[in-house]
Amino acid sequence: MFVLGLEGTAHTFGAGVVDGEGKVISNVRDMYRPPSGGIHPREAANHHAAVLHTVVGESLEKAGIAARDLGLVAFSQGPGLGPCLRSTATAARALSLWLDIPLIGVNHCVAHLEIGKIVGATDPILLYASGANTQVIAKAKGRYRVFGETQDIGVGNMLDKFGRMLGMPFPAGPKIEKMALKSDEYIPLPYSVKGMDVAFSGVLTAALSKKGKVPLGSLCHSLQETVFAMLTEVTERAMAHTEKKEVLLGGGVAMNRRLQQMVRTMAEERDGDFFVPEGGLLVDNGAMIAFTGLEMYKGGITTPIKQSQVNQNYRTDDVEVKW
Ligand code: AMP
Ligand code: MG
Repeated sequence: MFVLGLEGTAHTFGAGVVDGEGKVISNVRDMYRPPSGGIHPREAANHHAAVLHTVVGESLEKAGIAARDLGLVAFSQGPGLGPCLRSTATAARALSLWLDIPLIGVNHCVAHLEIGKIVGATDPILLYASGANTQVIAKAKGRYRVFGETQDIGVGNMLDKFGRMLGMPFPAGPKIEKMALKSDEYIPLPYSVKGMDVAFSGVLTAALSKKGKVPLGSLCHSLQETVFAMLTEVTERAMAHTEKKEVLLGGGVAMNRRLQQMVRTMAEERDGDFFVPEGGLLVDNGAMIAFTGLEMYKGGITTPIKQSQVNQNYRTDDVEVKW
């Protein structure tokens, strides 16, 4: 059996195919880049509708299969931007009806966690650090529980916003990472951990207020050191509390080498195992949706069309993990 997964929660439209064993055989995506400013949900949704046909076609072609070879179609049901979710869900429903195959709505955050199985994580603490989301998640009593999360914006959005004010194009995360390599000077910035939660608006304001007054490399370095230390701290506390021995990274910000290094060091110092999927499976992508859809399907779950409406605020812990 082949499973098609459609991802479309925010800026990226992706289509991926996995086989019946969950092996990823194609993973194609196309990212919406706003000409200026932030992401307008409707513009991103229009982008998805425009590229959908090509991205799905390319994904099937790379997998070497035809649409009629598919046995299941999975899609990102939430959380995310309403218009983007709706474009994607409409495509998934159309494919399910046309091909007469089951449909499965997947929680996007859960998919970031499930895909960690591909690199060998069995029961990890997930540090999910993406544009819109920042959460520390782990499985407990049949659900993925959120142990800590951002109280305001996602860490990626914070980096993108900082970069935008400094004239960097979207996404700014990779550019900040490059700039940060130019300096070792640490400029103190507010460190905001509240119990298991984190907050980024204070550090963003403080960093922006230093713009032009200190070298840009030092500012980028200090921003990364501060916010990644915050993330590492709450991840470590979740490991200690749950007595879990594995830590898994997910989300686009997890592409960052410095973040990987900090979390890896923490895990190793606790005699734990560190896992990070390859880049194409870290960012928003269709393969993780297909992979999770297959897991759910094997656990006896499908989504009737009538229950396939999108959920912008779909919480990680709303999902009963029956697979
Ligand atoms: P996602 O929302 O999971 O698709 O990830 C997109 C986010 O990841 C954006 O906010 C990017 O700025 C951020 N990002 C991508 N690569 C890096 C990097 N190397 N360092 C920091 N942030 C990054
Ligand atoms: Mg994501």
